[in-house]
Amino acid sequence: MSHALTSPVAASATRTPALEIRGLGKSFPIGGLFSRESVRALHGVDLTINRGEIVALVGESGSGKSTLARCVARLEKPSSGAILIDGVDILKRDRFQASRAFRSQLQMVFQDPFGSLNPAHRIEHFLRRSLAIHGKGGGSAEETVRRLDELMTTVGLQADMLNSYPHELSGGQRQRVAIARALAVEPQVILADEPTSMLDVSVRIGVLNLMRKLRDEQGISMLYITHDLASARYLADRTAVMFAGELVEEGESLDLLSKPAHPYTQLLVSAVPDPARAGSYDPVRRAELRQAVMASTTCAFDGDPNQACSADEPVRHQVGNPENRHWVRCHLYRPWAGAAGHALAGEPSQPNRPASNAQEGASA
Ligand code: ADP
Ligand code: MG
Repeated sequence: MSHALTSPVAASATRTPALEIRGLGKSFPIGGLFSRESVRALHGVDLTINRGEIVALVGESGSGKSTLARCVARLEKPSSGAILIDGVDILKRDRFQASRAFRSQLQMVFQDPFGSLNPAHRIEHFLRRSLAIHGKGGGSAEETVRRLDELMTTVGLQADMLNSYPHELSGGQRQRVAIARALAVEPQVILADEPTSMLDVSVRIGVLNLMRKLRDEQGISMLYITHDLASARYLADRTAVMFAGELVEEGESLDLLSKPAHPYTQLLVSAVPDPARAGSYDPVRRAELRQAVMASTTCAFDGDPNQACSADEPVRHQVGNPENRHWVRCHLYRPWAGAAGHALAGEPSQPNRPASNAQEGASA
C-alpha cells in the first residue's frame, strides 16, 4: 500500500474531544458465585478521541480491546472510571432515560457481519428500523425513501439492494449495511471492533476507505479496533497500544509505528512482515519476548529479569517531538537514548529508526 506512507492525519481532525475515557477499569468475577477471584480486563485506561479523528486500538487477542469498546457502548458495566461524550459522563446518567439519546451519539459496528443481521429480514428493514427508532426518517414516506437511498449510496451499495436478504450479500456488502445502519442514527462516534477481520483481503481496503470517507466528509470520530498494524497505519490518525488491559503507548500512527518505544509495541511491529526491515524478524527472539510478556506479573511488561520493573507502575514519558503526541509507559524507556535503551534494542531489527531519534526524547 504505497499510499500508506502519506500522513493519515485527517484534515478534519480537531482537538475538541468527542469521546473521553478516564481511568477506566473492568474486572470480571471468575470461579463461580461465591468466589472472590476476578480477572482484571482493564486497568486505568485513559484515551481521548477528538472530533473527526480515527484512533486505532491495537493489541493481541485477549488484551482487553473488546471489553473497552463494550464498556464505552454500555454493553458492559465498568468497575471504575468515567466515560464522557461531549463532556457528559454517560455512566452517571440513568440507563433507561439516557439510552436513546446515548445510542444516537454512539454506535458500534461489530466484527461479524454475518451474525449482526437477522437473516429473516430484508436490508431495508434494518435501516428503516434504525431511522424510526431515532426519529431520523424525515417527516414523510418520500423523505424516508430518500434517506434510505442516501444511506446506501454513502456506504457504496446500490439502492436496489434494499430488497435483498443478508444471505444474498457478500461479507463486505453486509459490513457496509452494518455501517449504514449505524449511520442512520447520525452518530458522532462509531466504535468499530475488528470490522474487517472476517472479510476477504480483497474487500477490506474498500471498508477501510469507507470509514476514512465518513471521517473526512462527515467528521465522524471512530475507535478502530484491530490487530492489524498495517491497517492502523493506513487509516488511523493516532494509534493506542493495549497490553494486558492497559494502554502502554500512544501516538500519531506513523510516528508510533515507525518508532515504537515500548517493548510490547516493538514486539507487535516486529511480527509484521515489512520489506523495509528485511531480515529483521527473528522468530526465536520473538518467541522469547512473547514468553516474557505472558509471564509478566506486576508490571504489565516485565520482560527483563535484570530490570527492576515491577516495583511501581510506570509513568508516561513523552517520546520525541511533542507535536506527535507520542508517549510510552515503561520503566525501560530512556528519554535521553530515544527508544534505544530496551528489550529489542540489541537486535539488528531497528534500521527504520532514524539516528536523530536519539536526541529527540524528552521526559514528560
Ligand atoms: P480482545 O478484544 O483484546 O481480544 P477481550 O476484551 O475480549 O480482549 O478480553 C480481555 C480479557 O477479559 C480476556 O482475558 C478475557 O478472557 C476477559 N473477558 C472478556 N469478557 C469476559 C467475560 N464476560 N467474563 C470473564 N472474562 C472476560
Ligand atoms: Mg476482541
